[in-house]
Amino acid sequence: MEKCHYCDNLAEATSWSPEIPLCLNHFNRYMEKKVESTLKNVIYNYHVTLEGRRLLVALSGGKDSMALLHLLHSLSLKYHYTLMPLIIDLGLPHLHDGITICKKNCRNLGLELQIYDLKSEEGFTIPELIEIDGHTPCSICGLIKRYILNKIAVEHNSIIVMGHTLNDYTYRILRALSLGDMDTLRRLSYILSQGKRMAMRFSPLHDTYEIDICTFLRINGIEYSHAICPYNDFRIYNPYRRIMDSLEEIDHGVLRRLKRTFFRRLKPTAPKVNLRECKICGYPTTSEICLFCRIKNLWMKRKAKA
Ligand code: SF4
Ligand code: ZN
Ligand code: ZN
Repeated sequence: MEKCHYCDNLAEATSWSPEIPLCLNHFNRYMEKKVESTLKNVIYNYHVTLEGRRLLVALSGGKDSMALLHLLHSLSLKYHYTLMPLIIDLGLPHLHDGITICKKNCRNLGLELQIYDLKSEEGFTIPELIEIDGHTPCSICGLIKRYILNKIAVEHNSIIVMGHTLNDYTYRILRALSLGDMDTLRRLSYILSQGKRMAMRFSPLHDTYEIDICTFLRINGIEYSHAICPYNDFRIYNPYRRIMDSLEEIDHGVLRRLKRTFFRRLKPTAPKVNLRECKICGYPTTSEICLFCRIKNLWMKRKAKA
């Protein structure tokens, strides 16, 4: 059997790009280094002290968030932050499995899982909102998740950490470029600074391939949820995912090159936007009343009529 590129141990897996055979320890180190590079970016370029800070880790139970939780946990000894794992129960059936998996993983790591129940806290679930609103399921779901995460992070003076991967970024970039969608291009970022009533957020897996995440989970025996959201077919990035994943198969590293070219050469040209306070909730928005409050009002009016 093949040996690890860095030591005499047998290789357990091969990293995707570059392709290097690695033992368990060195594969884990390879994954940690990617997360660490974002942590260092936050510390040195954004002048944020992570020591003693609380990181709110947004979980779904899926592979990306489970890998993120374990990697952040390993690095917490070195960077001295605390983790606040949180899952939002959106009322979607596939999340039952996700919540169970999150509970198990958090218990194994000695962490306390926070569950935010959308129905009991806000009065609605995602399937209920989708019925009354003209938005697509994923856009409304994304909006609600972003709003809730920010609200909780602001209330707990925490930094939000998300599990978006290199693959996620490239699908978004490609779609937005193809549509000339400057608003999405402007908002695309893997580190967002703190603002008034806006928590800092970052995505430490932005340079990590999903295939490496699957390998990491497999060789470490980490459980994750395979349940699929009933609205999965509505995801606008599905066609881009298929095309880009096939391209990556024949041209190793193309996704990373695309993402780097965008962030290094194209991103700075995107226009900036002015944020103001929502007249109802006070959280940042581009309009007088934020979309969350508008949707919530619509929901309450419909409910009152029923
Ligand atoms: Fe939400 Fe869409 Fe993801 Fe389902 S597939 S959890 S609706 S973003
Ligand atoms: Zn090794
Ligand atoms: Zn609002």
